[in-house]
Amino acid sequence: MTKLIFLGAPGAGKGTQAQILSENLGIPHISTGEILRNAIAVETPLGIKAKSYVDNGDLVPDELILDLIKERLGQEDALGGWILDGFPRNVPQADFLSNLLQELNQVCNGVINFDVPDHVLLERLLSRGRKDDNEATISNRLQVYHQQTAPLIDYYEKHQLLINVNGDRELSQISEELETIVKS
Ligand code: ADP
Repeated sequence: MTKLIFLGAPGAGKGTQAQILSENLGIPHISTGEILRNAIAVETPLGIKAKSYVDNGDLVPDELILDLIKERLGQEDALGGWILDGFPRNVPQADFLSNLLQELNQVCNGVINFDVPDHVLLERLLSRGRKDDNEATISNRLQVYHQQTAPLIDYYEKHQLLINVNGDRELSQISEELETIVKS
């Protein structure tokens, strides 16, 4: 499997695992959160528009994200595989991705869902200390996750792409399981 979506709440560990696995597989790790944080840091037009949403822990409007994903997946290094981390985050984004992959003649091989209880997420986010990791923003991000992103679990289950992984374990245990999954 080389075309993977990583799904999970903020703090579920998707980013860390995506980084490890993308290096092992030699495929790009595409994190929309990271792209947005970079854009905000260097004040590109995208960054300027996205800043207040990211600071509040709200989803950035779809129109800011969709073009960006289309451009990124169309790049040469993404032809042989990718890990999408933080996208899609709602049903319209998932529908867009499904159409885009058809256009690009690609298929997603699996959606890894990182399952972690809320109280563990909260602890992890509070100790992580990123700029958008303060208490008010965190509780909003968890709420946004449950309302807008968690429905994608059913969505991908119906598409027979969902693979559940227990994310409440040691990093290395999770990485090992992921290695096994992608080789199967
Ligand atoms: P986390 O896993 O902690 O939510 P991310 O790095 O994935 O962190 O995302 C950080 C922020 O970037 C989100 O709170 C949201 O504001 C914005 N963001 C990232 N990806 C998307 C997306 N696909 N659609 C809308 N907003 C997004």
